[in-house]
Amino acid sequence: MPIATINPATGQTIKSFDPASPGEVDRAIGLADQAFRSWRQASFADRAAIAGRAAGILDAERDDLAALMTLEMGKPVEEAKAEVTKCAKAFRFYAEHAEAALAPEEADAAPVGARRALVRFDPIGPVLAVMPWNFPLWQVTRFAAPNLMAGNVGLLKHASNVPQTALGFEGVLTRAGLPEGVFQTLLIGSDAVPGVLSDPRVRAATVTGSNAAGASVAEIAGAEIKKVVLELGGSDPFIVLPSADIDEAVAVGVKARCQNNGQSCIAAKRFIVHDAVAAEFQEKFVAAMRSLAVGDPMDPATRIGPLATEQGRDSVAEQVADAVGKGAGILCGGRLPDGPGWFYPPTVVTAITPEMRVFTEEVFGPVAQLYRVASAEEALELANATPYGLGSNVWTRDPGEQERFIRELDAGMVFVNGYTVSFPELPFGGVKASGHGRELGTSYGIREFCNIKTVWIS
Ligand code: NAP
Repeated sequence: MPIATINPATGQTIKSFDPASPGEVDRAIGLADQAFRSWRQASFADRAAIAGRAAGILDAERDDLAALMTLEMGKPVEEAKAEVTKCAKAFRFYAEHAEAALAPEEADAAPVGARRALVRFDPIGPVLAVMPWNFPLWQVTRFAAPNLMAGNVGLLKHASNVPQTALGFEGVLTRAGLPEGVFQTLLIGSDAVPGVLSDPRVRAATVTGSNAAGASVAEIAGAEIKKVVLELGGSDPFIVLPSADIDEAVAVGVKARCQNNGQSCIAAKRFIVHDAVAAEFQEKFVAAMRSLAVGDPMDPATRIGPLATEQGRDSVAEQVADAVGKGAGILCGGRLPDGPGWFYPPTVVTAITPEMRVFTEEVFGPVAQLYRVASAEEALELANATPYGLGSNVWTRDPGEQERFIRELDAGMVFVNGYTVSFPELPFGGVKASGHGRELGTSYGIREFCNIKTVWIS
């Protein structure tokens, strides 16, 4: 894949970059290794001052950074602005909470025969972050804000189609006063990842992306005995039961499916609706999907821009064609529009059966699958009948039903009468093929790349 900015709304190449040479990569790793020696000694107050300044720069430069993301990957510009604001919040959050999250924990010394026993959370060193293009600033912030506060240093291998956003992010941190080498963007293709991760100076890796990328990096990490956090794909259920507020479920469901042009790991992808409310939900949901404004992502009125890459758009079209070929129905959308750019219309697919690819695969575009079920049991069974287990959403006002779905949904996150969202305050991650490890939260994410060091003092 070329390292280049290619406008997905037009297909035009705007700017290309030469990948870093092996020598340049080696120098960057050396710099990271050196930088770690002093960064690990920096006080939380010093780190927090830099994180706070980074937040200020993100706020001040919100519109420019948002326009850059939209140019490179096509998300509606208003969503891009909200993403930048969210990144600023996360930097402030970790600036404020990292010290408490990583404060040494005193343990009960007497049973272990010590005068004092405690657990420390020490940084481990340079961490490689392999990141996707879909939330080009947020995904990197999720890694960078907690890890830099924890005293680790970052090497970013961003997706090849968002090089300018990657460099822009590094620039924000540099202008915030982050010392040289503490966070570096490596302009490299995925073929260079094994070499970086195999380098003994690189201590761990985190991957947010497809299962293929996750499996490939995890294989190397396994061979190298290095920790890896995997945030991979999802095919989240959005379950609507008879007691739900249907109008609200429809409005939230459309947003949950179509945010970021449908390219979100935690998008609601499979709508599982009880027979008692299925007709009403379908009619309102299809009408709402049809009404979304598709067009130029730089236009503030646009709700659906182009998909980020031609290959991504083609994959969605192939998955829908496969379903239709095997008997699925299309309630709206489903046809590639004429004209330039990699647009795909909001689409609702119904009459889905297990032999269709969409039943088990993640569909990364504005395509909702609509299933009908006769009972809560059937809804649960269908919701869990996926290789994935990232987010999940259930709509019911019945407390007993809520309790049951919270317990039995096989997913890393359950949202009741809402849709899956990431917050700095709450851990984020999945089970099954959606990966392992957690990001975010006041302790789980920030401790992933810490040495949980036991200290025993006689
Ligand atoms: P992708 O192709 O896996 O790309 C993600 C990153 O991995 C890019 O930097 C890519 O580099 C790199 N990469 C790809 N193949 C690799 C390999 N074999 N070895 C090492 N690195 C490799 O994913 P995508 O299609 O761009 O992103 C969408 C996927 O990410 C979806 O499945 C989505 O659900 C998932 N995602 C998950 C989360 C989460 O938190 N769970 C969040 C967002 C997205 P190149 O660009 O150079 O190929």
